Amino acid sequence: MATYRGRFAPSPTGPLHAGSLVAALASWLDARSHGGTWVVRMEDVDMPRCVPGADDEILRQLAACGLVSDEPVVWQSSRGARYQRALEKLIAAGQAYPCACSRRDIEAALLARGLGRERHQAAVYPGICRPEHGGLHGKPARAWRFAVPANEARAHWTDRRLGPQTQDVAGEVGDFVLRRADGLWAYQLAVVVDDAEQGITHVVRGEDLADNTARQMLLQRALDLPTPAYLHTPLVLGPHGEKLSKQSGAQALDLADTVGALRRSAEVLGLPPVAGDTPAQALARWTQAWRA
Ligand SMILES: [Zn+2]
Repeated sequence: MATYRGRFAPSPTGPLHAGSLVAALASWLDARSHGGTWVVRMEDVDMPRCVPGADDEILRQLAACGLVSDEPVVWQSSRGARYQRALEKLIAAGQAYPCACSRRDIEAALLARGLGRERHQAAVYPGICRPEHGGLHGKPARAWRFAVPANEARAHWTDRRLGPQTQDVAGEVGDFVLRRADGLWAYQLAVVVDDAEQGITHVVRGEDLADNTARQMLLQRALDLPTPAYLHTPLVLGPHGEKLSKQSGAQALDLADTVGALRRSAEVLGLPPVAGDTPAQALARWTQAWRA
């Protein structure tokens, strides 16, 4: 078996909250219980959404909880050349193509095909700019899209917690964006390139990210990269059953009581309550109790 390498990859759009600590703790415990390496990666490709200083704050919060990256922290915003090389590889293989469509073009095309959609539901890109449909039709390229291969559009995998999973990427997502019209790299491409380059063998992250897995697996296959094992952790719900997120105003972790914050995260993960006055003591006991 390859040596275990895991990661925690927060987006610095705000400080850690109770929900993100669950994923951080789970990925750390999984790495430690496998005798593996745990790294932190800042997923700051969506720069307009990032908050200056949030990356340092997240690292301070993690350190206060006893969770420290075993290797220097990597920032995705400094890795554009690597994503460009991956995109060029996909273009050369005929698996990426330029797209001239604005959001309105896509809406109009879907309506014309009788495929109106519910509000807030993501649009499935109807392949307007696919080379076999005439490409850009003389319009300037805005974005780059992945051409979801028709013969392997349905992805199957087994999540270590959720069990067998499947998604019809062609039917439910369509040809997804690799590089956005504003020039920013799409999350899917950056994650796949970095997980492979950092040798990540096990991805442990929040369940809200589970539906990205199929797209990432298709990209791994197209780029000839290995697929890690996936474990998606339970979400922390707010008082009204809503998903906790920075967008929904979840509170930052209270660093005055890191053991208490860790205990609440451990409970979400089904770990036993442990005595222990310091994060290090509690982490050592949960590492022994961790089974996944
Ligand atoms: Zn298009």
